[in-house]
Amino acid sequence: MGDEKLKQELLYMVKLASKYDFTRMEVVEGILRLENERQILGSVFGKRFKARIFDIAAGQATDEKCVICGKHADNHVICQHCIDTIGDSDYAKSQFKTVEKPKLKLKFNIKPAVKINLNLKSCLQVIAIIVLVLLLIFQIWIAILWHSIPNYNPKEEPRNSSFEITPVTSVDEAYAQILLDFPEEEGYTVTFGRMDYEYVGRFDLKPGDCCLEIEEGLSDEERYDYFFTEDVYIFYISYLENHTGKVGMAEINGDGEIILEGSFNDGRRTDSFYKFR
Ligand SMILES: [Zn+2]
Repeated sequence: MGDEKLKQELLYMVKLASKYDFTRMEVVEGILRLENERQILGSVFGKRFKARIFDIAAGQATDEKCVICGKHADNHVICQHCIDTIGDSDYAKSQFKTVEKPKLKLKFNIKPAVKINLNLKSCLQVIAIIVLVLLLIFQIWIAILWHSIPNYNPKEEPRNSSFEITPVTSVDEAYAQILLDFPEEEGYTVTFGRMDYEYVGRFDLKPGDCCLEIEEGLSDEERYDYFFTEDVYIFYISYLENHTGKVGMAEINGDGEIILEGSFNDGRRTDSFYKFR
């Protein structure tokens, strides 16, 4: 510990000797005042050093010998050899490292910048979160709109006949049956089109069944029976009132069963017949 203390003391002296002009009394007074507080220069070398710099400041002649080794010193305090030896010592280097610590403190002064960066980061994070939340809300809004679209274009159940199946043997009888469901007094116009053939299977469906949808799912065996044909009467039906228009056609077979195609089944495909009666 004593050795450490001496090394510290010698290094301190070298630093002072390299840095200050001891001919200025205010400098020497400052060093001695500090020394009174800290009591660093306590060894024989330190005491010599204090006496020497005071003499120099006071303008007194000195022996110009190094206070450490006794050889000639150009600066009248410590010779260049001692300055170099002590300044280059491992101890001095380790001290310089610790002396450099204040520089590290300077680096810590960069902290505000780091803080600003961190603030910026968290600020950006907050903005990102807000943007994501807004996106989410927007998506939910779109989803709600999407699901509400069917409300604008409701899929109505297909209209089914409320009349009994009644066999027909002529165009007039067929016409009369169609008129039951589409009476002229309610604004319908029913016109006989022609006689034609139609698939037998279509008349065997349940009321409301879509012919094309059913036919897509038929097995080969079912198709065999389904696609036989029979005679039908075909009628055109129209309904025009102000801004509403409905058109379509009805087919009725000899049994009096009816299939319907056109815009009488809102929300369903209008390119296919469906079983009506
Ligand atoms: Zn010396």
